[in-house]
Amino acid sequence: MLVAPLLAPVRVTQTFGNYNQQLYRRPPHRHKGLDLRAALRQPVFFPEDGVVVHVWNGAGAFGYGVRTRDDNGSWNLAHFDERPRWEEGQHVRAGALAGYADSSGNSTGHHLHLGRRDSNGAPVNPLHVYARYHAVRAGVDPDVFHRQIAMESGWNPWAHSWADAQGIAQIIPRWHPNVDPWDPFDSLRYATNLMSSHLAWSNGDYPRALGAYNAGKGRIRPLGVWAPRATWPRETRNYVTWILKGVDLASTDEHAALVADSKRNHEKKMAALAQQATALGLTVRMRATLERSGVWETYKRAHPDDAQLYTDIHQWFADNVD
Ligand SMILES: [Zn+2]
Repeated sequence: MLVAPLLAPVRVTQTFGNYNQQLYRRPPHRHKGLDLRAALRQPVFFPEDGVVVHVWNGAGAFGYGVRTRDDNGSWNLAHFDERPRWEEGQHVRAGALAGYADSSGNSTGHHLHLGRRDSNGAPVNPLHVYARYHAVRAGVDPDVFHRQIAMESGWNPWAHSWADAQGIAQIIPRWHPNVDPWDPFDSLRYATNLMSSHLAWSNGDYPRALGAYNAGKGRIRPLGVWAPRATWPRETRNYVTWILKGVDLASTDEHAALVADSKRNHEKKMAALAQQATALGLTVRMRATLERSGVWETYKRAHPDDAQLYTDIHQWFADNVD
């Protein structure tokens, strides 16, 4: 399990890899983590299960803080208000209270520094780790999702497009009111769920699911018919090509499993739709007639797309009943 180190809404105040703005630093150095805005004494949580391997005692640049190690690397949490109560060798759980944010060490305001190192000790962008985690959880290929976010925002949590797409996953708020686009943790979780639902809709077809993320489902399947790729907006075609370039989807068992999984999701969704037929415009009498005639099952099999299914069923009624 991987959790955000602060309660939502989380805001990034300095991204990974940006040159530090502090003028007294010669030469300027790359920022090896992510700075997150924190209220004074705001609780900080361990992102992941691990073992405490270091506790900073307030003397260095990190001030007070704690480092944990797990199977794949280590997390650094820094600039706490006082020495954390943790000791080296202690096991910690994801979501457990690590300490309280302040501005101890080399810091110009209270905030949390979140750092991630891989198993070789090399700094990595913590948001990459969260993106892969959420992708795997949602049944989305993590390599594809990584490249998708690179394409959307270049991993910039402050990205804002002319079309009002906001944040790291370039979410347009008027279409997606239930996510905080400026919170990269919330956005990455939401975007992987959205991709998962697009994959169920496209029956595991990544180009179509990515196309829907970029251009909307209506451009990829207008009027219930899959549009040929050549008719997609040029920007969307480039988007899909770039993301899938170098990602050999067909070659891995992992991907085959993902496709099978999204097909299963799709079948579940169709079964739920059948149950909701009444609510979607079929009367009980119509539904009973359909079931007796076997047409319901036939149409369900023939039409993976629900809009087309209902259109055809109503047409069948017009032709065969009354
Ligand atoms: Zn920092």
